[in-house]
Amino acid sequence: MNDATPAQTAARTRVTAIAGDGIGPEVMRATQQILAAAGAQVDWEDALAGAEAFRKGIATGAPKETLDSIARNGVALKGPLETPVGFGEKSANVTLRKVFEMYGNIRPVRELPGIRTPFAGRGIDFVVVRENVEDLYAGIEHMQTPGVAQCLKLITEVGCERIVRLAASLALAEGRKKVTVAHKANIMKLTEGMMKRVGEQVLKEYPDLQHESMIVDNCAHQMVIRPEQFDVTVMTNMNGDILSDLAAGLVGGLGVAPSANLGDACAMFEAVHGSAPQIAGKGLANPTALLLSAVMMLRHIGDFATARKVEHALYVTLEEGKDLTGDIAAPGQGVGTQAFTDRVIANLGRESAAVPAREYRPITLQRWPAITWYKAAATRELVGVDVFVESERDPRAIGITLAAAAEGSAFTLKMISSRGTQVWPEQGGNTFLVDHFRARFLFREPPKGDAVAEITDLLNRIGRQHRWMHLEKLQRFDGADAFSKAQGEG
Ligand code: NAP
Repeated sequence: MNDATPAQTAARTRVTAIAGDGIGPEVMRATQQILAAAGAQVDWEDALAGAEAFRKGIATGAPKETLDSIARNGVALKGPLETPVGFGEKSANVTLRKVFEMYGNIRPVRELPGIRTPFAGRGIDFVVVRENVEDLYAGIEHMQTPGVAQCLKLITEVGCERIVRLAASLALAEGRKKVTVAHKANIMKLTEGMMKRVGEQVLKEYPDLQHESMIVDNCAHQMVIRPEQFDVTVMTNMNGDILSDLAAGLVGGLGVAPSANLGDACAMFEAVHGSAPQIAGKGLANPTALLLSAVMMLRHIGDFATARKVEHALYVTLEEGKDLTGDIAAPGQGVGTQAFTDRVIANLGRESAAVPAREYRPITLQRWPAITWYKAAATRELVGVDVFVESERDPRAIGITLAAAAEGSAFTLKMISSRGTQVWPEQGGNTFLVDHFRARFLFREPPKGDAVAEITDLLNRIGRQHRWMHLEKLQRFDGADAFSKAQGEG
């Protein structure tokens, strides 16, 4: 699937197997049995991550040996991981995705035969491509006041470009026709607007693909109303997180949903579901989601024939409805994980008419240079600063004190906002006030000397009367404002 060479000996590929927590070991065993029976040329290298690693005192939940194994092999199949209460703040899943810069999360959404849903029979068959490492999930959070939290939404142009190119490559590899960029650019013009703008620009380079942009809330609505219209959708991290789960719900839910995490050097395949602790260790878990993830993995390592064989055997099993696990069987007819696994193995070699006819080809991923990405601007101007202050006073009183503080400085106070809505010099409507204000100061004239000294002087003046906690420069790049206006700001 990408041009990194997975660890291969003769025709065999070594894959890191992380069984994970809860039902993980059961669904991993089932998947490995089916792949072995299908003749997959895979050698497994077992590795630890998740709850047990946290309990061993590994703060990230992913030991160095596991990271080394993934780095060496370039391919991993992973069961669900838990973050036990009281251990660590960060999920081991997110750590693995981010450490290896697996920036593309691929979630196929395809109707499965024999799985009853309100949408069955409509032939749903699309893919959600979710940016996997940026956005609010960079996890950069601060309490700005005791009662006000902030999370930084970081979107980069190169991050948008590579995920859109990945979506386009996937569309071409699977013979798909259309890419839909879903975004919230109408509200977040700089961050979500970047995904829309870059998406529209980049997709012009793919004349064989139709492309469209769609506001993400409408996209959620359209996925429910008319899911057949979608082919490949691409979006930023949080939008993709939410919409990919919604989409999984259309075709049978998280228990049967597979996924891939792709990066330039490594790929990790995993079921979407978690460790299902209620049924763990009972031999009841459904391995379908991990098995379909393993099918994606086989295609990634170029074993298209075995992928097809396993996929057809699973579809035949689901279609015939014999020996299904309790979560998908007819009431009272569920069997255990092993009986289901044996049935899939027995069906290897049979073909299902329900598998969409699709010629899979390797995905060609652009290799991004291992340098710090830098975008220059022909001109840059510093026009002011936003200073965030904590105050229990009303906006009028804050306005008077801040304007007075700026007197004699290089700045004038332009406006004050409360959670993005202007409350000074004029306050329209009924903006509820909290103890968190953003004060916008503009340079009286373009700074000629030491702008940092001017800013420091302003902060010192403000600090005599107010607690300030955050500062943001107001810049213009190539003549365009690099900041948004407040609601109601003139
Ligand atoms: P979950 O583990 O997906 O389980 C929710 C319910 O879905 C289960 O109780 C079970 O329902 C059903 N289910 C899920 N997978 C199934 C399968 N393969 N076969 C049969 N039934 C299945 O979600 P959760 O309870 O929210 O999360 C549990 C733990 O997993 C948490 O610690 C969470 O952080 C972690 N998690 C990890 C990942 C990951 O590693 N990528 C993803 C999500 C969650 P019944 O009880 O009705 O049988």
